[in-house]
Amino acid sequence: MPYVAVDPSTGRELSRIPSTTLAEARLAAARAARVAPEWWATGFEERAGRLTALAAALRAQVEPLARRMALEMGKPLAEGRSEVEKCAWVCEYYAEHAERFLAPQSAETEAVRSGWVYRPLGVVLAVMPWNFPLWQFFRFAAPALMAGNGVLLKHASSVPGCAADIQSLLDEAGLPDGLASVLFLESSDVGDLIDDRHVHAVTLTGSVPAGRSVAERAGRALKKTVMELGGSDASVVLSDADLDFAAAESVRSRLINNGQSCIAAKRFVVVDELHDAFVERVLDELAQVVMGSPLDDETTLGPMAREELRDELHDQVRKSVKAGAKVRVGGEVPDRPGAWYPATLLTEVGPGMPAYEEELFGPVAAVIRARDDDDALRIANDTDFGLGGAIYTADLARGERLAADRLHAGACFVNGLVRSDPRLPFGGIGISGYGRELSPLGIREFVNAKTVWVGEPGG
Ligand code: NAP
Repeated sequence: MPYVAVDPSTGRELSRIPSTTLAEARLAAARAARVAPEWWATGFEERAGRLTALAAALRAQVEPLARRMALEMGKPLAEGRSEVEKCAWVCEYYAEHAERFLAPQSAETEAVRSGWVYRPLGVVLAVMPWNFPLWQFFRFAAPALMAGNGVLLKHASSVPGCAADIQSLLDEAGLPDGLASVLFLESSDVGDLIDDRHVHAVTLTGSVPAGRSVAERAGRALKKTVMELGGSDASVVLSDADLDFAAAESVRSRLINNGQSCIAAKRFVVVDELHDAFVERVLDELAQVVMGSPLDDETTLGPMAREELRDELHDQVRKSVKAGAKVRVGGEVPDRPGAWYPATLLTEVGPGMPAYEEELFGPVAAVIRARDDDDALRIANDTDFGLGGAIYTADLARGERLAADRLHAGACFVNGLVRSDPRLPFGGIGISGYGRELSPLGIREFVNAKTVWVGEPGG
C-alpha cells in the first residue's frame, strides 16, 4: 500500500508515495549503523553545528511547511507556523545543552577513578503519528542525534508530504549521508525491522494499540523502547478557581490542533457549586470558534485529519448521549465533503460513557460534575491513562501540592493548560506510555550509561 495524502477539507487525494520495502528499510538501517559511530566521533560541537543548521532550515521554510500540514492533516496555518518554530527551538535547545546533559559523571569508590559516561545506543527507529507531523519527530530526533545516534523514521501513512519534507530538511542541514532516513514503511513491516540487528532501540508516538504492538515486538527482541501514547487529561476546576480563566484555558486546550492533541483537556471536571456557571462560560468560548479552511488565517477550527477518525469520534458522542450525556452545542456531522466536526460540548457525562472512559480525539469536550474538590481529584484519576492534567485554583501552594501528590499523570500544570516545552520532561504513566522526552531526561533515553572503573596497574 502506498502512502496517500488526502485533503481532509475536501476528501480529495493530493499525492501518493510508493512504500519502502522491508529490504530497502534493512539497507537503510545497516547504513545508519555504519555512519552513526563516525557521527559520534565528530564531537558535540560539530553535531551542534548540524542541529543549528537544521533549525535554520526549518525557519527558512515556515510557510511551505505550515501549508503542507494544513493540506495533509488540516492544521490551521497559525498553529502550523508555531509548530515549525518549536521544532527549530528544540534543535537549538539540544545543540546548546546536550554536552552538559551528557557530561561524564564521577563517583568515589576504591578505584583510582570511577564513574559513568553516556554513549549512543546506535540506530533508533521512530514510529510517528500525523497529528504534530513535524514536532513529534524533531522532539525525538534532536536529542537522539545530539547523543550520537542514527535515526530512522516511519511516519504515519497519511502525511507522506510531511515525511518527505523532513528528509529534505535533514539533507539540507548537512547531516552525514544515511545517518537519518525517512522510510515509507508499511506498519505491518515495522516488527521485522525492529528485529533487524542494525536497529538498537524504538520509540513510538501514537495510539495505545500501536504502542502495545510495537512494545511487545521490541520486548521480545529486548530492545529499549519509549512509548508516547494517548491521553484523557482532566482539567480540574476547584471551588476557588478563576472561572473565566479556567473556562477559556480549558477550551483552548481542548481545541488545539482541531482537538487532536494527546495532552488536550478532554474531561472538564468541575465542582458542583461552579458547574452551571462554568458550562455557560464554556458555551460563550465555543461560540467564538471559527470553523473553516485551515488555509484561512481567521480559522480556529479546521477539519479533523481523516473521515474515519471523525466517524469514530461521532460514534463515541452518540454512545455517550445514549447513555445519558447531553449535547449542549455541536454533536452533528456537517453535510459537506471532508472530515468536518463542530466544536461540541457534552454535559452530564459519567462512568460507562465513552466520553468518560475513552480518549476523544477531536473537538469534543466532556463536562463531569464533582461533589467537591476531593471528588474532582478522584474523578480526574479515575482513568487508565496518565499523560497530563491541569488544576485551576486561587491557592497556588495547595495547587502545587495537589499537582505533585494527588493528580496521577506524567505532567500536572496549575492554572495553565498542559503543554510540551523542551526544558521540561514529557511523557506518561499507565496506558499513556513510559519513558520521557525533552529536558535532560529525554536525551538520556537512547544512551548507554556506561560505568568506567580504573584501578592501579598492580591492583
Ligand atoms: P496510530 O494509528 O497509532 O499511528 C501512529 C503511528 O504508528 C503511525 O506511523 C502508524 O502507521 C503506526 N502504527 C499503527 N499501528 C501500528 C502497528 N500495529 N505496528 C507498527 N506501527 C503501527 O496513531 P495516530 O492516529 O497516528 O495518532 C493518534 C494517537 O496518538 C492518539 O491516541 C494520541 O493521543 C496519540 N499521541 C500521543 C502523543 C504523546 O506524546 N503521548 C503525541 C501525539 C499523539 P500508519 O499510519 O501506517 O498506520
